[in-house]
Amino acid sequence: MSTTGSQHKNKAATLGRIKCFISRGPLSKNPTQLNKKCDGIPSFASQLYTETLPFTRLEKWKLPGGNGSWQKFPVHDILSEVFLPANLGDKFGPVWSTHWLKVHFNLPKTLEGKEVHLRFSSGSEATLRDFQGSVLGAFSPDFRNEYIISKEWSGNESDIVYFIEIACNGMFGGGMIADNLNISPPDEAFEYTLQRLEIAVFNRVAYKLLNDVDVLYGMATELLETDHRGYQAMYTANEMINLITENKTQKAGQLADAFFAEKNGDKVHTLIAMGHCHIDTAWLWTYDETIRKCARSWHSQLQLMKDYPEFVFTCSQAQQFYWIKKYYPEIFTNIKEMVKQGRFIPVGGTWVELDGLLPSGESFIRQFFYGQQFFQKEFGMKCKEFWLPDTFGYSGQIPQILKHVGIDRFLTQKLSWSMVNKFPHHNFIWEGIDGSQVLVHFPPGDSYTMTASVKEILKSVTNSQDKGRVNCGAYLFGHGDGGGGPTMEMLEKLRRVRNVDGLPKVEMGTPDKLFEMLASESRNLCKWVGELYLELHNGTYTSQAKIKWYNRKLEQFLMEVELIMAIAYSTDCALQEEEFRKDLHLVDKCWKRLLLNQFHDVIPGSCIERVKDDAWRIYKCVWSDLTKLQTIYNNKLLFGAADNANVPVIFNPLCWEVTQVICSSSAIPQSVNSTVQTVVLDDKCFDEEEEGRKLPHKFVAVLVKMVPTGYSQVIPVEPSLPVTVRKTTNNNTSLFNMSNGKLNLKVETLNGIPVESLALVSSRQDYNEVEVFKKDTKPGMFYVFDDVPLFWDSWDAMDYHLETRKELECRDTSGPIILADGPLLSAYKWSCTFGSSSNFTRYTIMRADSPILEYFLIIDWKESHKFLKVEFPVDVLAREATYEIQYGHLQRPTHINTSWDMAKFEVSGHKWMDISQADRGVTFITDSKYGWHVRDNVVQLSLLRSPKSPDGNCDMHKHYIHYAILPHEGTFQSAGSIRKAYEFNFFGANDVSILNVDQDYWKRGMTNMVTTDNEAVILEAIKVAYQVNRALCIRMYESFGGSARARVNLGFSATKIEECDGLENPLDESKYVDTDGNSFQIRLNPFQIKSFLVYF
Ligand SMILES: [Zn+2]
Repeated sequence: MSTTGSQHKNKAATLGRIKCFISRGPLSKNPTQLNKKCDGIPSFASQLYTETLPFTRLEKWKLPGGNGSWQKFPVHDILSEVFLPANLGDKFGPVWSTHWLKVHFNLPKTLEGKEVHLRFSSGSEATLRDFQGSVLGAFSPDFRNEYIISKEWSGNESDIVYFIEIACNGMFGGGMIADNLNISPPDEAFEYTLQRLEIAVFNRVAYKLLNDVDVLYGMATELLETDHRGYQAMYTANEMINLITENKTQKAGQLADAFFAEKNGDKVHTLIAMGHCHIDTAWLWTYDETIRKCARSWHSQLQLMKDYPEFVFTCSQAQQFYWIKKYYPEIFTNIKEMVKQGRFIPVGGTWVELDGLLPSGESFIRQFFYGQQFFQKEFGMKCKEFWLPDTFGYSGQIPQILKHVGIDRFLTQKLSWSMVNKFPHHNFIWEGIDGSQVLVHFPPGDSYTMTASVKEILKSVTNSQDKGRVNCGAYLFGHGDGGGGPTMEMLEKLRRVRNVDGLPKVEMGTPDKLFEMLASESRNLCKWVGELYLELHNGTYTSQAKIKWYNRKLEQFLMEVELIMAIAYSTDCALQEEEFRKDLHLVDKCWKRLLLNQFHDVIPGSCIERVKDDAWRIYKCVWSDLTKLQTIYNNKLLFGAADNANVPVIFNPLCWEVTQVICSSSAIPQSVNSTVQTVVLDDKCFDEEEEGRKLPHKFVAVLVKMVPTGYSQVIPVEPSLPVTVRKTTNNNTSLFNMSNGKLNLKVETLNGIPVESLALVSSRQDYNEVEVFKKDTKPGMFYVFDDVPLFWDSWDAMDYHLETRKELECRDTSGPIILADGPLLSAYKWSCTFGSSSNFTRYTIMRADSPILEYFLIIDWKESHKFLKVEFPVDVLAREATYEIQYGHLQRPTHINTSWDMAKFEVSGHKWMDISQADRGVTFITDSKYGWHVRDNVVQLSLLRSPKSPDGNCDMHKHYIHYAILPHEGTFQSAGSIRKAYEFNFFGANDVSILNVDQDYWKRGMTNMVTTDNEAVILEAIKVAYQVNRALCIRMYESFGGSARARVNLGFSATKIEECDGLENPLDESKYVDTDGNSFQIRLNPFQIKSFLVYF
C-alpha cells in the first residue's frame, strides 16, 4: 500500500490535526488534560474505552500506624478485617499511611469476548490484589491506571472481588501534585482522593491505531526539516485519520503496518533497548516504601513479559531483590524464573547503587562482595557490569575496584548533568589512578528513564559524542527514580521502531550484548584518565553531616571488629564453631546495613528527614551490634575482665606501631594514674547521649606505644617533647604560646577572638622555624557563605557562593581559655554565638611528641542557606593539591585556568588532603568531612551546610567535628601523612577504650597479627574468609603512588597463601604464594590493591 500525500500544503495544520487526534494520549492520561485547542476535532483517544461498569459494593479499612506499618500486618489478616462502606470521592491520608479497599464488581454475560480492564485512580500509588491477597497489578497516578482483567472475557456472569492497597504517596513521595517533581519537604497532611474505580471495555483496535499515529507523529515532527521520511510519516498519519474517520480502521492499520515495514539500510546505527526502572532505595520516601515500590514496579514488568516476549528488563541493587524475596516471595519466584530465561536481568553487582565518592575503598569492595554473593546464591549468576546511572561523581579508583571484583564494564549517564563542560565521550576506556582500564558506556540519550519517544531515540544517535567510533548505544526506557518502569505503551511503540527507515534500529537486548558490540569496536575508543567529576551536586560532600560522620566511624569500627574476630579465629581462642558463625553473620548484617545507607541519596544527604531518621536508627543498631561483638571477642581473647583485673590493655587495629598521646574516658588502674594527665574540656557543650568515638569531655591523656594489629599493655611513656603553654602579655592583647618542640603555636587575642600563627620547627640546621601560613592572615578562622542554589537545595553548592564569603561575626565570645597545659596535652577553648543563634566551642589541642595541631569543634548549627567553612591560607606555592580517595589519592588543580579546573570549585577527599611545594607542605586531616575548596593555596574545609529541601531540618543539631593540620617538611609521603591520617581517625579523634585485664592472663601474644615492612603498604581489611575454613582474607594497597616490595609478616603460622580477588575467589588455584609459614613477599604497583587468602 502506498501513502498518498495530503492535497493541502500547510504542514503546520496537518501536524496540528494529527496532534489533536492523539491529544489525550493512549490509556493513562487524565481526561482533564485534554488540549483545549483541539475541541471539535475528534480525539481518537476517547474511543479507547467503549463502555464502563460501576462497582456494586465498595468498602475501606485503614491500616493502623503510619510509614512502614504495613510490614507489621500480614495480608491474610487484613483480608478478614471489618471494612467500612466507602465511595468515590472519599479521601485517604495522611501521607505515608496505608488504606485498603475491597471492591465488588458484577461482570455480565454481555461482556463475552471483550477485553476487560479495571480502571483506578486515587492520585497515589496502589497495589491490586485478588481475594486471597496475591498481587495482581499496580497503579501509579501518572502512567499506570488500569489493570487488564481479561483480554477476552469468557462471558460467564460473575462477581469479582478485588482488594486495593493504597499507599498514601505518589511516585515522588508525599503530598505533591502528580507530574511535578517537587523536592520540598513532604506535605504530610495531604490527602488523596478516590477519583475512579470501574470496569471498562477496552478497544484494542483503537489502541493499535493510536500508537501507530503517535509514532508517526513523532517521526513527522522530528524528521520534517531534514528528511523526506518525516513527510512520509506525516502523510501516512494524515491518511490514517481520514480512513479512521470513514470507519475504515483495518485499512488505516494496514497503512501504518506498511510504513513500519519499510526497513533501514545495513549500516544503520543500532540502539540496544533495555527496560529499566530506577528505584531510589530511599529519597523522597523511606526504605519501607521502597520495598512496596519494588513490588509494584517489578510485578508490572513480569506482567508485561507475558504479553511481550521480546521484552528485556534490567534491574540493579541486591538489597531490593532481598526485600522482595522476604516480603513478596511469590513475586520473587516469578523473577527467578525470568532471570533464568535471561529476560529479567540483575545488573550492577552491588548491594545498593552507592554514592560514587564518599564510601571508603573497603566499602566499595563490600558493595560487590555482598551484592554478587546474593546474585550468585539466588540466581546462579554474577553481574558482569557495574551499573550506576545516577550518582554524583565517580572516584578515580573505581576502575581498579571493578577489576578487583572481576568486572570490566561500567554504565552510567550522570555526567550529562554537568553544568559547565560537556563530557567528550559516551563510549570510552576509563583508566583509574593505578592504570586499570574498564570499558564505559553512557547511554547517549543522557537518561535512564526514556519513554520510547521518537525524539529520545533520535537524540540517542545525534547526541553521541563518539560518532564513527561505535555504531551502537544503549537505550534505557521505563519510568524511574520513584520506580514504575516500562509500560505497555512504551513496548508498543518500540515494536513499531524496531527497524524502520528514518530511525536507528532499536533492538531489545541485554547489557551483555551491548558491551560485546562496544568491545568489538573498542580499538576506536578514546581514553579518559582519573575521576569522572560531576560538575554539579558538590554540596553533597557536606549535607547531612552526621550521616557522613556515622559512615566514617562505622567503616572504621567494622575494620576493627573484623580484625579482632580474625585474631580470635586464628588463635583458636575458645571459639565454638556455631556461635562464631552466628557472630560472623552479625558482622555481615552490620556491613549490609552500612552499605544500605551508602545509597546515592542517603549518604550524600539528599534525602527527606524521615530517611535521615531511619539512617541514624540503622547506624545506632550497627553501633550497638559492633560494640557487643567487640566486647565478646575482647573478652575471649583477653580471658575476660576478672575482678582483680589491673593490667590496662589497648588495641591497635593498624598494621604499624603507633606511639601517641591517647585520650580515654576509661578508668585506668591506680598504678598508672601518676603518669597520666587528666583533662577536663567542658561538660556544658557535650552531650553524653552521643555514641563514643569522639573526644570525651573528661579524659586521661597518656602517651603509649601500641604494637601493630593487636593488643598492647598501656605502659606510659615519658614524652621526649612535652607540650608546654607559656603566657605573655603585650599591651592590651594577651598572648600565649603552645609548643611541643615540633610545632609552635602563637595565639593572640583580638576582641576576644583568638588569632593563631603556627610555625614548624625545622629539622634543618640553617633555620629554626618555618611559618606554616601566610603572614597577616587568620588561619583556622571560620567563614560563612550564602548558599542558595538554583534548584537542588541539598545537592548543589553553586560557584557564586564563593563570592559571598564573610568572616564569622562572633557575639558573646568567651575565651580563649587554657584548659590544659601539658606535659602530655594542651588545649584551649574559644566559644561564641553567631548568625541565627548558632554557637560553638572550639578546642585547639596539641599533644606531646606529635607534629599535628588539631581542632575539635562542637557546634550547634541553626542557620538557613548558609555554608560554614574553616580556612587556612598556606604559605606554599602549589599548582595542585592532593586528596585521599578510596585506596589511594589524586591531584586536582588549585587554579582555574580552564573551564574544567574552574568547575572543580568544590571537591571531595577522604581522611586527608595535602598541599605542598617541593620542600614542604601541609596535610589536613578530618575525622568525618569530605568537602574541600582550594584556590591559590588557600585551603577551605567545608564544615556544614543548611539546605531546607528536601529535609527542612537538615543538619539543624549539634555536631562534633574533628580536624587537624600536619605541617611537614619534604613530601607528604616522606612525612608519614597518610599513616598519621589513619592514626588521627582511630586514636586522635576518639575516646580510646582501655581494657583492664587480669594479670595472670595477660601473657598471650596477641600482637603483630599482620604487619608489613614497607611504610607505603597499608592493610585495611583482615577478616575471616567467608567461603573457606581456617583461612583469613587480608587486603592491602600501595598508598604512596609508587612501586612497593614488602614482606608481610604474620603473627600466626600459615599453611598456605593464595592471592584472591575482592570477592575472595582465588586468582589462580594452582599457584600458591611462597611462604615460610610466618611471612610472604609481595610487590605492588602504584595504588595497587591486593587480597590474599591466608590458611592456617
Ligand atoms: Zn537515583
